[in-house]
Amino acid sequence: MALSDANTTIDYAFDQQHIWHPYTSMTQSLPVYGVVSAQGCELTLDSGKVLIDGTSSWWSCVHGYSHPTIVAAMQQQLSQLSHVMFGGITHLPAIEVSKRLVAMTSPQLTKVFLADSGSIAVEVALKMALQYWQGRNKPAKQRIMTVKSGYHGDTFAAMSVCDPDGGMHTMFGNNVTQQIFIPSPSTPFGEPLNQSDIAALELAFATHHQDVAAVIIEPIMQGAGAMRFYSAAYLQKLRQQCDEYQVLLILDEIATGFGRTGKCFAYEHANIEADILCVGKALTGGYISLAATLCSDEVANGISDSPAGVFMHGPTFMGNPLACAAATASLDLLLQGDWQQQVNAIETQLKQELASASNLPQVREVRVLGAVGVIEMVNTVNTAQLQQAFVELGVWIRPFNKYIYLMPPYTISAEQLTKLTLAMITVAKSIDATPVTTQFISHG
Ligand SMILES: *Cc1c(COP(=O)(O)O)cnc(C)c1O
Repeated sequence: MALSDANTTIDYAFDQQHIWHPYTSMTQSLPVYGVVSAQGCELTLDSGKVLIDGTSSWWSCVHGYSHPTIVAAMQQQLSQLSHVMFGGITHLPAIEVSKRLVAMTSPQLTKVFLADSGSIAVEVALKMALQYWQGRNKPAKQRIMTVKSGYHGDTFAAMSVCDPDGGMHTMFGNNVTQQIFIPSPSTPFGEPLNQSDIAALELAFATHHQDVAAVIIEPIMQGAGAMRFYSAAYLQKLRQQCDEYQVLLILDEIATGFGRTGKCFAYEHANIEADILCVGKALTGGYISLAATLCSDEVANGISDSPAGVFMHGPTFMGNPLACAAATASLDLLLQGDWQQQVNAIETQLKQELASASNLPQVREVRVLGAVGVIEMVNTVNTAQLQQAFVELGVWIRPFNKYIYLMPPYTISAEQLTKLTLAMITVAKSIDATPVTTQFISHG
């Protein structure tokens, strides 16, 4: 390979032989598509083909690609200060993004830990909860409770609170901490809490509260583990149980935060407050990795009273200025408020255009909330095969497990969205309705 080729052609053979992609094998490779640029809601492939993006690059790119405001903010930051260590040093980008996070989130959340990725934000949240109870002289509170079908990331502590069956528990054995699982919320979004959810919550807290430091949950939408929406009343009951039994509530808004479900944060559907909140994905508008964990004064004070006296975490690239500048620009775009109307319009259109799919024999259910549209199939789908069909139709939609879903940028046009929903229905119809054998499925 001539190295000079690198700028002009995509060396697929090198990629295949040397580069891991998410959840892939280096011996049985699946096709990848070379992207050379992206603008608005479109990705341009090396072939020149243009695809409408239905995924927002794993739910992060909410304002679309190459947005001039975010690009300008990053270019300016890059020329001034791309990175500096955060130990003993502070800088304007970290302060600006943190000011916005404190102002946008519920009043109780006052302290910000800037983390490098969503999984790390979850690790930080879990560590905070454990150190908090050490500081409150309840060292027995060491376990984490969560619901089934959750997804919280790929690092070890995050894996321990992912769904125990669909997640990665068994394959890593004792390296994954055994946490406490309760049934996933069964009451659908918009409905009053059913008796079985109430009973499951009450039983779990009554049984385990002495050992439990915190409950972690994705509010309203279970993302990569289930692609489904549950009742806000579940969160209200959960908050009440946490208060009654002295358990911290960690809300993982990494997928739902910044407008995706029709509220800025999904917990706003339930009018509850978290003790600890994780955000990520859309925080920078999808331009560069950044996440954050916010906590209350009470949690921060408990950590200070713990034997360590300090919070025990501090990565090399903590508070990276370039990422903070991107996040500040993205949050300012959100604060202008157009997202609300955009997400409402996407929701209305998705409901109209996906409804007919629910009559297909291959389809189990169609679900829409905010800028999320899900077709749950009866059978597990072949991601690579469907991926190819979607590319041929000129769209980028990446199904996984039984889910063919859309989470488009909020800036998508009505015409672009129609192309996406038509492609979804066309591909759903083309799928064989006979059962297939299941294999290990990831969110990749
Ligand atoms: C994606 C996701 C994570 C993990 O974030 P990464 O940036 O991929 O580490 C954690 N929690 C939820 C709810 C997510 O959707």
